[in-house]
Amino acid sequence: MIPFKNLPVRQFNRDDDIQGVEAAIGSLKRNAGREYPLVIGGQTYTNTRKLNSLSPSDPSRTLAIFQKATREQAGEAINLASETLESWKATSADERADILIRAAEILRRRRDEAVATLVLEAGKNWIEADADLAEAVDFLEFYAREALRYARKQPLVPIEGEEPELFYIPLGVGVVIPPWNFPLAILTGMTSAAIVTGNTVVLKPASDTPLTGQLLAEVMTEAGLPEGVLTYLTGSGGEIGDFIVEHPRVRFICFTGSVEVGLGINERAARTAPGQIWIKRVIAEMGGKDATIIDDDADLDAAAKGIVASAFGYQGQKCSACSRLIVHERVYEPLMELVVAGTKALKVGPPEDRTNFMGPVINQAAQDKIMSYVELGHDEGCLLTGGNRIDIPGYFIEPTIFTDIKPDSRLAQEEIFGPVLAVMKVRDFDEALAVANNTVYGLTGAVYSRNEDHLNQAREVFHVGNLYFNRECTGALVGVHPFGGFNMSGTDSKAGGRDYLGLFLQAKLVSRKV
Ligand code: NAP
Repeated sequence: MIPFKNLPVRQFNRDDDIQGVEAAIGSLKRNAGREYPLVIGGQTYTNTRKLNSLSPSDPSRTLAIFQKATREQAGEAINLASETLESWKATSADERADILIRAAEILRRRRDEAVATLVLEAGKNWIEADADLAEAVDFLEFYAREALRYARKQPLVPIEGEEPELFYIPLGVGVVIPPWNFPLAILTGMTSAAIVTGNTVVLKPASDTPLTGQLLAEVMTEAGLPEGVLTYLTGSGGEIGDFIVEHPRVRFICFTGSVEVGLGINERAARTAPGQIWIKRVIAEMGGKDATIIDDDADLDAAAKGIVASAFGYQGQKCSACSRLIVHERVYEPLMELVVAGTKALKVGPPEDRTNFMGPVINQAAQDKIMSYVELGHDEGCLLTGGNRIDIPGYFIEPTIFTDIKPDSRLAQEEIFGPVLAVMKVRDFDEALAVANNTVYGLTGAVYSRNEDHLNQAREVFHVGNLYFNRECTGALVGVHPFGGFNMSGTDSKAGGRDYLGLFLQAKLVSRKV
């Protein structure tokens, strides 16, 4: 296999790239409203309770209709995964890796369709959508290679008179629960890692983005994944989430989402159900309240660009988004002038129009929640720009900046998950680091500085899983920036890194006397 390389993200400056996505958006709109049955082991179900995929830039448009799985159906999916486990775990790592490589190839072929789906269903701009697709492809390619590495002979210390060997075996049946904000990349990454290591999976996608997840289910089938290894179980987390997490035949849960839901899953998974014979493993990647520090000697133009991109890219709906800006008082005025100017220049509108940088937030509840933080911002700080809903169909909010925010205020502490940036002024670099670490989260962070001592200090002290110097705090690349956070940001699983597949495996030692 050739060495892994990241798939470059398209910038849409070529006519054929633009026409391809335009055609795919047109086709998706023409076919809107198609209904997908629930499929469990070849059996199809059409339920009375439906899950509608809506477009956040035009919620009157139903993109597709899915079924809300019942607990009984969820139970069937888990039983099927349990039955399929024996044959799937006996399949060689080569065969499993080949399926991922074929899936990557199919996704590349369906790239425009995937981008169009992400634009319409998740409200991503074209470049963000292409980055989501590229990351999904990267996960497939990277984990395929990693599975082969894990399958190789593992080094042990030799001993006279014995032949020890250590190898990795799968855990068992896994439940994969992704969020809506990277509905292809994260969903694909978690699912493919679980599958390529020989586990069987029940995948419950986020309710806001079932159509994007459907794409992976189809791709995996076309790539030759045997029936029962992956069941795509659409349904409400609130209704079937507890059931699948608590099920005694489930061996592990791989979750990415909010801290509230993640902690609940962790608690429920820790209880031993009757008949359960293992301790469940929980891989949980959760929220962030990510900070960017601007030192007094920073390149302010580069910093301003990075701040605007990381605070408002995908409407601030990234776990890695810059939501706290911590600025040395000596450069506060010139920096904020650049940041505010850059923010005011952002184009907001329906993402079908590829010239819009910002699209809608995901749904009505998200818009209401974000706007309640904007109201709070007026009490806790001083509005520099934005602060309004945009009066067009869909869930649009202006990119918003509040300054004079106190480090302990709610705006500086709580994950807003929208286009709202809280700015804090500090006297020196020590104070900047103290403010940055004053959070329960620990996901990403960025420091703009030319001072080597300060960068070294940040390297030691800034307590985040992914720390970036003189660049934005978003945009982790598979294999380059393994991703995962500390404290309430999660279990630091480092998705896209060399340790990741180990989380889906257990090691067996066999030693023979000779
Ligand atoms: P969420 O509300 O926690 O939902 C995540 C997933 O959990 C969804 O599939 C949801 O299903 C499901 N769920 C809800 N209740 C459940 C329950 N009781 N049991 C089992 N599953 C349940 O999060 P979100 O709004 O989708 O995503 C945004 C959050 O994800 C933010 O906090 C963000 O920071 C975090 N995130 C973290 C990372 C990371 O790598 N650290 C990456 C991306 C996002 P329904 O949709 O059906 O409710």
